[in-house]
Amino acid sequence: QIDKAGGSYTFYDAEMNRSISGRMYLESGLRRALQREEFFLLYQPKLDVRSGKVLGAEALIRWAHPQDGIIAPNEFIPVAEETNLILQIDAWVLDAACAQAKIWQSAGVQAFRIAVNVSAREFTVSLPERIEQALSKHQISSGWLELEITESMLMQNADDVVAIMSQITALGVTLALDDFGTGFSSLSYLKRFPIDTLKIDRSFIQGIPDDADDCAIASAIIGLAKQMKHKVIAEGVENSEQFAFLQKMGCDEIQGYLFSRPLDAEKFSEVMLRSFS
Ligand code: C2E
Ligand code: CA
Ligand code: CA
Ligand code: CA
Repeated sequence: QIDKAGGSYTFYDAEMNRSISGRMYLESGLRRALQREEFFLLYQPKLDVRSGKVLGAEALIRWAHPQDGIIAPNEFIPVAEETNLILQIDAWVLDAACAQAKIWQSAGVQAFRIAVNVSAREFTVSLPERIEQALSKHQISSGWLELEITESMLMQNADDVVAIMSQITALGVTLALDDFGTGFSSLSYLKRFPIDTLKIDRSFIQGIPDDADDCAIASAIIGLAKQMKHKVIAEGVENSEQFAFLQKMGCDEIQGYLFSRPLDAEKFSEVMLRSFS
């Protein structure tokens, strides 16, 4: 409520001050974090529904803050996106994920893919070259890297986007459309862009099997993916009812707490890649 006599304005100013200084605190912290390498990656397995095999992992960033402990990406990625810091952070992520891919590749792991999240700000004409450099720096075999992109990236100038994507897929890197179904673009982009995988957003998985709408949406996305010869993965699978439903509908892959939380590289190797060590 606005109180012209003063009280509410004072309250508003204080709130605003807090959020501005909070933002500045985060921003300067992020600069330091980049210099001192305070970031690390966790890996969450992606499972083949039919064979039960681990086919790959999504790399998820964490920030080991010296005072505040481990900070989740939702707390700092939005601020990083408002500044240019996201470009440096995503570059760090790409490099770290490729370094890890090399370690697993050298240990004899085969048919495995590490997926990296790409922010819309990073999706520019220079991205293919930056990816190519990371792949050759770490000598990663083709097919080891996947990018998770969102619908918002497809809404930039369509010709540019198609060209960028084609250059990326020409490197043997696959593209997954993340948070599928939550964006605002039309389905026609599925025809134009070289996308390999649709990733059904967790918000549509949550209500399965009780929520009829969630069931309908998830089934429709799986059907669409199959008809268009895309692979389809469900994220945020937390219980066996959801798994059974997705399996029945023919979903190719799943990811979620039901199988595993995101793990650090060491734990991931121990638990997921036992047969290779
Ligand atoms: P996302 O790409 O949709 O990633 C999936 C998020 O869901 C992850 O959260 C993951 O830990 C969480 N999750 C996985 N399985 C389950 C489940 O069964 N239940 C529930 N409730 N959650 C589950 P996280 O790691 O906190 O990441 C949040 C978001 O931050 C990501 O959403 C992504 O948009 C962004 N992000 C994470 N890492 C990076 C990165 O390296 N670069 C960029 N640009 N963004 C990143
Ligand atoms: Ca993702
Ligand atoms: Ca996602
Ligand atoms: Ca999501």
